[in-house]
Amino acid sequence: MTVLSVSNLTCRHGLLTAVRDIDLSLARGEVLSIIGANGAGKTTLLRSIAGVHPVAQGRIALNGEDVTRLRAFERVRRGIAMSPEGRRLFYDLTVADNLRIASENARPGPWSTARVMDTFPQLGPLVHLPAGKLSGGQRQAVAIARALLSNPDVILLDEVSLGLSPAAVEGVYQSLATVRAAGDMAIILVEQDLNRALAFADRILCMAEGRAELQGAPSDFTRAQISDAYFGIHRQEAAHG
Ligand code: ATP
Repeated sequence: MTVLSVSNLTCRHGLLTAVRDIDLSLARGEVLSIIGANGAGKTTLLRSIAGVHPVAQGRIALNGEDVTRLRAFERVRRGIAMSPEGRRLFYDLTVADNLRIASENARPGPWSTARVMDTFPQLGPLVHLPAGKLSGGQRQAVAIARALLSNPDVILLDEVSLGLSPAAVEGVYQSLATVRAAGDMAIILVEQDLNRALAFADRILCMAEGRAELQGAPSDFTRAQISDAYFGIHRQEAAHG
């Protein structure tokens, strides 16, 4: 059953249209990777689904209910959680306190602190450390764990592997594979690493200049089609042709 449905979504930064007419829909247990070059509109799309960037046109529905005009905290209550780029943890507080704050007032559901700790075993030895002392990969794990604790139906993960070591990326993706296998939620992630995105996602959405250049299962496309879409090449050729 469709959990998230986005139709004709357009978002602006002042006069700049950063997201143009995007459609997508996702079921529980599905993973969508959003790919595209810098400035393609990936973060703005994610932020607009989370309710931290206004929608200029279009509609966002969660479990069939229109949430387009709801504020971010109301969407969290309805079941949309976001782990932003830059992670935004409380760096002076311990990992345990960061997670405790997230679990207070969370929606009831299957994701408890114990389950999150099982899913991110790398956090076990770190619970009493301030989040500011953690490595990039460890911070990413805390940020995703925090989002899971709100028991979302849709989890939005911005820049999953940005700035992480290959080993840290591997660790985070192993945990994400566990989250996905549980099938509790739809996962949308923005991923700069094309190989990761193609290997992990059920579907990809490739954006260029705010548009959906290509959307579907990774196996629907050749690597050349994907890299053309990534750089918006076929659109330019069409414009000149
Ligand atoms: P990146 O990978 O660099 O984060 P992105 O695909 O996530 O890129 P966005 O950050 O959504 O892209 O940016 C889309 C467009 O909106 C870009 O042209 C960017 O310069 C512009 N933009 C983003 N944030 C703002 C802002 N706060 N004010 C004005 N323009 C912005």
